[in-house]
This record gives sequence, C-alpha cells and structure tokens, in this order.
Amino acid sequence: MIETRELSKRYGQFTAVDAISFKVEPGQVLGFLGPNGAGKSTTMKMLAGFLAPSAGSATVAGFDVQAQPLLAKRALGYLPEGAPSYGEMTVREFLDFIASVRGLAGDAGERRIDEVIARLHLERVLEQPIDTLSKGFKRRVGLAGAILHDPKVLILDEPTDGLDPNQKQEVRSLINSMARDKTIIISTHLLEEVHAVCTRAIIIAGGRILADATPAELESRSRYHQAVSLTATNLQQAKDALAKVADIAALEVDPQDNRITAFPKPGRQIFVAVSDALKADQVVVRELALEGGRLDEVFRSITQGAAGAEVRT
Ligand code: ADP
Repeated sequence: MIETRELSKRYGQFTAVDAISFKVEPGQVLGFLGPNGAGKSTTMKMLAGFLAPSAGSATVAGFDVQAQPLLAKRALGYLPEGAPSYGEMTVREFLDFIASVRGLAGDAGERRIDEVIARLHLERVLEQPIDTLSKGFKRRVGLAGAILHDPKVLILDEPTDGLDPNQKQEVRSLINSMARDKTIIISTHLLEEVHAVCTRAIIIAGGRILADATPAELESRSRYHQAVSLTATNLQQAKDALAKVADIAALEVDPQDNRITAFPKPGRQIFVAVSDALKADQVVVRELALEGGRLDEVFRSITQGAAGAEVRT
C-alpha cells in the first residue's frame, strides 16, 4: 500500500531524509519512531505529496506520488503535525468544505459526513468555530477531515502530541478501530504509543532507518528482555536467595524502591528458579515480574550518536 525507494530530501547542503526505502503492507500500523528532527515529518510530507523529494520515489496504493498525484491523494488521508485547519470555519463548514473538495456530493456525501461526525463524537461542537475548540477536539476535527473520503491509507503525523492522557487514549482507540481495513503510518516520539497501536516500528534518526521490526522484536533487543525484577522488604535476604540461582548472570539493585533486577545468562530462563528460590527462603516479595524488554532503552541505544539526533524520550 505504501512504498518508498531511496526517498531523500535535502535542504541546501543539509540532508533531512537520506535514501529511505520501506514498504507497508495492507492492515499494518507502522509507527515512525525517532527523536526530534529525525526526518519523520519530512518523510510523511513527501508521501502525502506536500513536499517534492530531492531524489527517489514513493507510491501510495500503487500510484506514484509525483507522477500520479491525484490518484495517490485520493487513496490517502493525511493529518499534518498539529492538525492545522481553517480556524474561522465551524466544524460543519469545515467538513462540508472537505467533502466538496473530495467530490463527495449529495445524499451520499451527507451520509458520510454524519457517519464521521458520529465516529469522532463531534455532535456537540458542530456549530463552533474550530479556533474556539480545545486541542482534543481540534485533533478530532483534523482526523475527521483525514478519513472523510474513507481512504485506504492514513498518514498521521504525531496524532496524539499535546493531548491529555484521556484524549490520547481516545485517539489511540480510534486508530485501532480503523486499523482493520486501512494501512496506517503514525509518527510519534512516544514509546508507549508504539505498544498501544503499532504492529511494526521503524526507528529513524538523522534521516536514516536504523531499525525496522515489530515492537516485541525491538524489546527483545533490550538487555532487560527475560530479566526478572522484584521488590522485597528485606533486600539482603532476597539477594542471598538469588545468589543460589545458577542461571543468573548479574543483579542490579535500585535502593530507591528496593527493586532488584536479575539478568539471566544468555539463552536461560530464570523466572521459575527465582520464584522457587525466594519461596524456599521465605522472602517476603511485593512484586515479581518477568520483563519483556524496555523499548526506551532500545530506542536510546539505537538513536544515540545518530547524526543530528536530538534525543527526546
Ligand atoms: P521530525 O518530524 O522527525 O521531528 P522533520 O522531518 O520535521 O523531523 O525535520 C528533519 C530535519 O529537517 C530537521 O533537522 C529540520 O530542522 C530540518 N528541516 C525541516 N524542514 C526544513 C526546511 N524547510 N528547511 C530547512 N531545514 C528543514
């Protein structure tokens, strides 16, 4: 549904996007993850036909974004960063306007507008100028505009940035509900967002792809993958018990919250042995967990040192 080949953007001497190639298959929700200035927005703008590439090419639903811009745009809904819109229009005027630009006329158009209003819960703000809406509602209006023509492909640039936790959750559930029949790219610098909505993540920094994997694969690169963490009232007693587990390679102690993390020897599973050892020594444990891996640590180790990266996690 989306393909880029050696896609590049240069501003003068500066290369913002450096020969990026990837494909997104139907039904995937691809998270575009990277520090500020990584080149995420620039890549999305080129996919959406907002910016011409300096080199390389991109297709959306099989249409070249430069050679067949109208066909590509017909297949695509785009939410630019910050969801800019026409502030003086009311929500209804804005949706009518987008419908007419998209060629959605007559009863079918009206029906579609009503569907989108219901889906994004915009009923009570329909007659309000967009400038007077809260950030959360503005974002929903932007999303309504992006999905009005029911595109197969959605490109959402930082769709939850600046929203409060409830609004973030709302936008994420909406993305999840649309994922069934669409191909979606979202950019984010929030790692929890990758967990919440993405089936795959591309980590980009300094205009280059540094990793392309599922969130679980990325987590498995973490040194915390398969580690066991626990909190105990008596730290020394817990440490003594853990010393008897042969497959533990190292222990890390965080005295602030009395948390011990035990790292397994390569290829070993230690959860059961740790749990048995603690039980045998009657250690009072408040929490015992097997770690999947920490995405923030993987993200930092992958992006640190990447050219021009301004790391923000
Ligand atoms: P991200 O979305 O990952 O935060 P951007 O794609 O917005 O990153 O920007 C990538 C890089 O390109 C940044 O270093 C940014 O300063 C630079 N850049 C973006 N737009 C322009 C422009 N119009 N002129 C010059 N440099 C730009």
